[in-house]
Amino acid sequence: MNTKVDTLEFQAEARQLLQLMIHSIYSNKETFLRELVSNASDALDKLRLEAFQDKDLEADTSDLHIELEVDKDARTLTIRDNGIGMSREDVIGLIGTIAKSGTAEFLKKLKESQDSAVSQDLIGQFGVGFYSSFMVADKVTLTTRRAGETVGTRWESGGEGTYTIEELDDAPQGTAVTLHLKPEDADDQLFDYTSAWKLREIVKKYSDFIVWPIKMAAEKTAEDGEVTHELETVNSMKALWARSKDDVTDDEYNEFYKHVSHDWQDPLEIVRMQAEGTFEYQALLFIPSHAPMDLFMRERKRGVQLYVKRVFIMDDCEELMPEYLRFIKGVVDAQDLSLNVSREILQQDRQIQLMRRRLVKRVLSTVKTLMTEHPDKYATFWKEFGRAVKEGLLDDVENRVAILDISSFSSTNDAEAPTTLREYIERMKDGQQDVYYMTGESRSIIENSPHMEAFQAKGFEVLVLTDPIDEMWVDAVGEYEGKQFQSIAKGQVDLDSDEEKKTAEAEREQQTKDFAELLSWMTTTLGESVKEVRLSSRLTTSPTCIVGDSNDMSPTLEKMYRAMGENMPQLKRILELNPTHPLVVGLRDAHSKRADDETLAETAELLYGMALLSEGGELSDPSRFTRLLAAQLTRAL
Ligand code: ADP
Repeated sequence: MNTKVDTLEFQAEARQLLQLMIHSIYSNKETFLRELVSNASDALDKLRLEAFQDKDLEADTSDLHIELEVDKDARTLTIRDNGIGMSREDVIGLIGTIAKSGTAEFLKKLKESQDSAVSQDLIGQFGVGFYSSFMVADKVTLTTRRAGETVGTRWESGGEGTYTIEELDDAPQGTAVTLHLKPEDADDQLFDYTSAWKLREIVKKYSDFIVWPIKMAAEKTAEDGEVTHELETVNSMKALWARSKDDVTDDEYNEFYKHVSHDWQDPLEIVRMQAEGTFEYQALLFIPSHAPMDLFMRERKRGVQLYVKRVFIMDDCEELMPEYLRFIKGVVDAQDLSLNVSREILQQDRQIQLMRRRLVKRVLSTVKTLMTEHPDKYATFWKEFGRAVKEGLLDDVENRVAILDISSFSSTNDAEAPTTLREYIERMKDGQQDVYYMTGESRSIIENSPHMEAFQAKGFEVLVLTDPIDEMWVDAVGEYEGKQFQSIAKGQVDLDSDEEKKTAEAEREQQTKDFAELLSWMTTTLGESVKEVRLSSRLTTSPTCIVGDSNDMSPTLEKMYRAMGENMPQLKRILELNPTHPLVVGLRDAHSKRADDETLAETAELLYGMALLSEGGELSDPSRFTRLLAAQLTRAL
């Protein structure tokens, strides 16, 4: 038997996180117990499932439970479970390392924030699990043996940089975590975690719903005065989702949410469902109050927990939540599935698909209710998750309208508060047919782009769409409540009232004649860059702008595709001229007098470059642009 003690180093991220826990920036220290009990409960769930699926597993599942054991003299608290346990590799990989995606960013943010309230808030968003033991303990000993294995492992650390690990030949199946409590908390009744009533209180508060018994020794005084110790179960063990709604307090829901989500903050909203009939299930879902750090990372997890008849089957059941609702947490307990159900079966099961459809509809309708009944909560929801939800406009055609109903967009109506489409439509001007929008990289680029001029001058509201996903869905969706989405940077615009049209028509006819020669000359001159040069009705102050044909891809989308490595042909767009701008008028007059002048072609090229720049675009040859501009300026002096 190898009894060698190895000393290993924590992974860098783990070390930093431990430092934080030791110097405890988190004020609510008692939550360490919730984390350890939660881990123990998960370990019991895993063992029950594995024993069911693997009949050869040599494991004792007859009395699965969690036990809290106190040694007042030694000032230790032990949290013991007889669950799945860990192998030596598990311990090194799971306890010595943090595999959570986004940890590096999280730690960076934490370092940057000097404010302790902000740090607390951040750590609450992150959730630290096992490491929270170091908030109350200056040394932690973990002994464990994986079910089915014979050799156990002992792990110990003071949290500072290294830990020791050694083999154990007499470890019971499961895991025991012993906390050597910090001395400074000893005199304080509030923080005495060796006090039985204190521990009971904490378990009741945070872990009552755990479906496994949490046992503690209780003193029993017999009639003859003899004192014995008996194990007593301190939690009620009722699955929260199976209890009637009025039976459960908000606090209980909140703690349950923290257990399933590993989040330390209360959820934003709770979604309960009970389906009776041929396919019976209960669901208890939560909308978190903040987005997880990995919401937009590739390796993120998603999905809710699946139970079958109260038995835990799997975490992150993707079959029950679509990608765009990947932030939803919670539990679904189905009565009519087999405990043997596998991912492959789930993917094909019609009942599962039906269930998912109903869950999705319920989540969407819950958000819709928030809009009217709790606008603040809705605002938080949209700020945190809106970007993800909009993916559903592409992925979930069936719920497109429901998603549009709960969507908000930044708009020229208000620089701060986003607007819903319904609100936009209510504000539409008489005679306005379409919902106007513009996509781009930032609000300021869009607001200052020449395309906006006539819309601003005439008071038409424009949606300001700056998320990459916006580029995709506007085209795919097309309309809302009979109103078309119309890009102000595409196609022809006509913002004139009937009255204005009469005068404008005559004027335009005249302009078309006056500018015909210039337009055809410029179309030829700039033929490599644009497909047409025409007069604009959307400009008031700028000389030029570039627009797409109604069904052209937008420049941002084109850029996105290129960034993804797609080989895109050069898209030619349309250059529009402002017929009232002195530069345009001047160029026309000059061209009619000296059509073969070289510098006029350069002016045309400069006009095109200016249009590109003012929409936030990039010049293909910036140094040539500057050279031409410098030459023209010199001549003008
Ligand atoms: P989290 O629980 O958020 O995943 P932790 O740091 O608390 O993070 O735990 C890391 C991992 O260590 C767990 O995911 C689990 O695989 C393992 N683990 C922790 N405690 C136990 C336990 N009591 N029994 C078995 N495995 C455990």
